[in-house]
Amino acid sequence: MAGPANIGGSRILLRKLREIMEAGGEAQQRLDRLVAMIASTMVADVCSIYLTRGAVHELFATQGLDPAAVHRTRLKHGEGLVGLVAESAQPLNIADAPHHERFAYRPETGEDPYSSFLGVPIVRSERTFGVLVVQNRVARTYGEDEVEALQTIAMVLAEMVASRAFGDLSGLSEVEARASRPELLVGRAFSDGLALGVAVLHEPHAPLGRVIADDPVAEEARLEKALSQVRAALAQMIEGDPGRISGVSREVLETFLMLASDPGWEVKLKHGVRAGLSADAAVERVRGEHRAKFNATRDPYLRERMHDLEDLDNRLLRALAGVDGALSQPMPENAILIARDLGPAELLDYGAERLKGVALEEGSNAGHAAIVARALGIPMVGLLPGLLSRVEAGDPVVLDGERGELRLRAEGQVISAYSQRLNLRSARAAEFARLRDIPPVTTDGQRVTLLLNAGLALDVHHLDEAGAEGIGLFRTEFQFMVSETLPRLESQTLLYRDVLEAAGERPVTFRTLDLGGDKVLPYVTAEREENPALGWRAVRIGLDRPALLRYQLRALISAAAGRSLRIMFPLVTTVQEFEAARELVARELAWGGGHGRAQPTNIEVGAMVEAPALAWAIRDLKGRADFLSIGTNDLMQYFFAADRGNQRVSERYDILSPPALRLLQRIREDADEAGLQISICGEAAGRPLEALAFIALGYRRLSMPASGIGPVKRLILSLNAGEAERMVAELMAGSAPSIRAELTAFATSRGYAL
Ligand code: PEP
Ligand code: MG
Repeated sequence: MAGPANIGGSRILLRKLREIMEAGGEAQQRLDRLVAMIASTMVADVCSIYLTRGAVHELFATQGLDPAAVHRTRLKHGEGLVGLVAESAQPLNIADAPHHERFAYRPETGEDPYSSFLGVPIVRSERTFGVLVVQNRVARTYGEDEVEALQTIAMVLAEMVASRAFGDLSGLSEVEARASRPELLVGRAFSDGLALGVAVLHEPHAPLGRVIADDPVAEEARLEKALSQVRAALAQMIEGDPGRISGVSREVLETFLMLASDPGWEVKLKHGVRAGLSADAAVERVRGEHRAKFNATRDPYLRERMHDLEDLDNRLLRALAGVDGALSQPMPENAILIARDLGPAELLDYGAERLKGVALEEGSNAGHAAIVARALGIPMVGLLPGLLSRVEAGDPVVLDGERGELRLRAEGQVISAYSQRLNLRSARAAEFARLRDIPPVTTDGQRVTLLLNAGLALDVHHLDEAGAEGIGLFRTEFQFMVSETLPRLESQTLLYRDVLEAAGERPVTFRTLDLGGDKVLPYVTAEREENPALGWRAVRIGLDRPALLRYQLRALISAAAGRSLRIMFPLVTTVQEFEAARELVARELAWGGGHGRAQPTNIEVGAMVEAPALAWAIRDLKGRADFLSIGTNDLMQYFFAADRGNQRVSERYDILSPPALRLLQRIREDADEAGLQISICGEAAGRPLEALAFIALGYRRLSMPASGIGPVKRLILSLNAGEAERMVAELMAGSAPSIRAELTAFATSRGYAL
């Protein structure tokens, strides 16, 4: 770590920089004075500022190079050492610059005699828009304190350029120091919906124009206050009230608290403040270092620690902004949360009331935050490249969770187009609400049962809102995924009882824990597997380590005392697995009976058809299972050998292809033959065109996300099932990779409501 010399160095530089800015004068003059001052303070032969203007890095000011090169020397993106610094957004510190492979010789600068080179990026909000360079004749490597001092100056310079502190200088207005133009970012839709609102950053920035502190003593006191707030908030979370849903396990929180109490972190932060930075800027600097280290490390343990540290930096920045360390930020009413990635509990912490949408630079459709967003009915778009460098807090944004797009700083016309779409959506929602109490019967009299997929207590209100006839799939692992520690028997029982009570007379099918694969628990260290989707997951874990599953069954049995209970096992692959799982139910019932516990009046036990092997063993389940449900998400991933979480392949194959439809038809026929009730509960069931095909294949029970119920019911009310059956049979006989286009054309020509 840099020694106290750096504090002095940075402080002098910052003080002089401030004097130059306060002295006024022409913009160019001030830039020229600035480079002269840096060169003399750092005892450098050269100091230059390059700013990025369009596709080039242009020399805006220099001390030491030929003044005639100013505004003439322009390096293309990635060109020369300057290009390298800008590209990597990392400092470059070398003793023998002319022999570096990326050195680009520019005769007009008179650069030949300078051997050593130190360049640091000029960055703000992850946007690199320039490079600050010092050079010396003698070959030397600059000290860590010098690098840090130059970075501090670059940070302040970035802020000054962004806040237009230099006023008018030709070309400066083209330097995009802050995102200001309307932009369209295209990502992936993770949760449906549209939202117009203002950007709120999950990872906040130091407020614009507040980088240098007026009063370092007061600033240090502010920093200390925020630090103790963060520590207190963490300690409180650890003590925690047990019913609270927090994102992180106790162990993680304890690590956080330990890191937050690490004197090294505090020293580093104070270091920045004593050098003259505002507390916010000091934290942002340190966060920059943590992020750079995170990006540079491959070691998973170190990456984890760097990530934790970054999270702490973010908490501290939020605390400095005058809010509680972790939660309950005062949010605008129409907040659209912007983050790199988000955990499910972090999302729950923000709450659905004010959050109108979420945009993520990374994330995944199968990720837990996406699951929670869908349960909360909040639109979410992820995989938005460059998001964090393109958005400013407070920017007006339009989040399009239908198309997977984000419009930043949209202008009047675009906004009004979206407002119209929003109105249209509310009109459709009103139409679906009108259909709520109408039974889904096709025009030729086929009754279809529409059920809800749920997983959190939050979901259950959808039953009434959407008018579903029950819960066809309750994903019990969600409770495990969003809670801080392994939910105890008691809290499992409470949740199941709440769900059953909210459902009233309507049946609920509880699926036992479906962990492994993409569903990992923060508090369980899982063994790394080569192919997690094909690995030790779902009922396989339950059978090998029955304690957890038996506890869950005990909770289910006790929650359903006095009523009927439906239990379903995920990813059953063989009949024997199903029997073994069913045996565990019998043992738990016997245990309850032996202990004089009230029992459910009736228990039905079913299997999910997700493994192709089970799809070919349906008839063998006759008399053994009470019902079946097809999880098309997994069944199709195994059928097409295409990872459902891998965007490259997950949409490559279509469930509406003859082979997949033939498989589904065969399963339905075998289930009928075996007298087994069968439903489909993958996401596809909630899409009208797919639902049409499933009904045509003879399925009469569909379970889906709440958002699918209205559209699918509307389709059913307009559909002639017999006619659809004939058409699908005809199309299925072909060999096209998908019948989607033909089926759509047919449905449209028949006036079916897709
Ligand atoms: C499925 O695989 O289709 C399913 C419904 O289960 P999950 O999406 O939870 O794996
Ligand atoms: Mg599944």
